[in-house]
Amino acid sequence: PKEVTNKDFMSGSGPGNANMVTKKPKVKAAFVMLARNSNLDGARSSIQQMEDRFNRNFNYPYIFLNDEEFTDEFKEMTSSMTKAQTFYGVVPREHWSYPDHIDTEKAAETRRTMEEKGIIYGGSESYRHMCRYQSGFFFRHPLLDGYEYYWRVEPDISYFCDVDYDVFQMMKDNDYKYGWTVSLTEYMETIPTLWKTTRDFFQQNPQYLAPKGESVEPWLTDNNFETYNGCHFWSNFEIGSLEFLRSEAYMKYFEHLDRAGGFFYERWGDAPVHSLAVAHMLPSDQIHFFNDIGYLHNPLTHCPTEKYLRAKCHCNSAVNFDWDAWSCANRYKRLVPDFVWNEKTYNEK
Ligand code: GDP
Ligand code: MN
Repeated sequence: PKEVTNKDFMSGSGPGNANMVTKKPKVKAAFVMLARNSNLDGARSSIQQMEDRFNRNFNYPYIFLNDEEFTDEFKEMTSSMTKAQTFYGVVPREHWSYPDHIDTEKAAETRRTMEEKGIIYGGSESYRHMCRYQSGFFFRHPLLDGYEYYWRVEPDISYFCDVDYDVFQMMKDNDYKYGWTVSLTEYMETIPTLWKTTRDFFQQNPQYLAPKGESVEPWLTDNNFETYNGCHFWSNFEIGSLEFLRSEAYMKYFEHLDRAGGFFYERWGDAPVHSLAVAHMLPSDQIHFFNDIGYLHNPLTHCPTEKYLRAKCHCNSAVNFDWDAWSCANRYKRLVPDFVWNEKTYNEK
């Protein structure tokens, strides 16, 4: 596929404040957005917020990925929202199609049954390719070669807080491999065998587990590892290490899942897949909660409630999801002692 940068579209000096001094990104990092051409308005909205809240000071590039060619309009109307570099790539067909071992008839049957049961995206074929792509392939796209960190951005999301420090530098300085802002429980009908498939993998490959007692594995279960409680980091917001996803450990884990077929015979989401890997493989001190990044992906909001953080945000902290019934933040707090919390809100619940 032909890759196009904004250089092809921008004339003159481009958008942005001419008086502003822009620092060159220090860390090899990029925003990564998977989108369809029809997501143009939502993509533009997300970019403008990213620029306003963070990137006008840091100038990290954007990488847009699509299973089809982006239109010239999409490229022009997104690159015009930022003075940072923008890159547009097509997903290789092998990364967005059925692997040979998948029985497509059986997959179609699953979609029909799940549709009838009213399971969210249960009848969707494209959603399954998308989840498999986000689970196992986006970090292998040639446009991401040479990058160390990614920040996943979706169309139609909101950022509420000024982020005045270099997030990627902070990740690197602290050796964080994965950052999140919303966690919740998964619909178990979408992942009936994901837990067993995952536990089998780690039983067969214990060398990939974080050192004993250092991971957040116990966060995943309420009955001593018998079943999965569904807790996962919401992957529509992610700031992570590409090196981690490209590691032998993660790649072997993904291959194991892909072979088992649950991306098509069930409806495994990339959020539980990433989270199960993170929770098993990383020590908890390499996982960071971005409490300071107020965020909305419909219908859930993370809005910081601490005054010192709220001061930089325009969200209403009364709608903060952290302590709702479906949130997994309580369980995380119990497990990870140095987690940044609002003690007051927590104790009131
Ligand atoms: P949800 O957040 O689980 O409801 O799923 P979304 O519809 O937001 O999809 C997740 C991400 O994948 C978003 O960034 C979408 O733009 C993108 N996406 C979903 N389906 C497709 C697809 O068929 N093609 C492309 N190019 N992007 C997709
Ligand atoms: Mn979404």
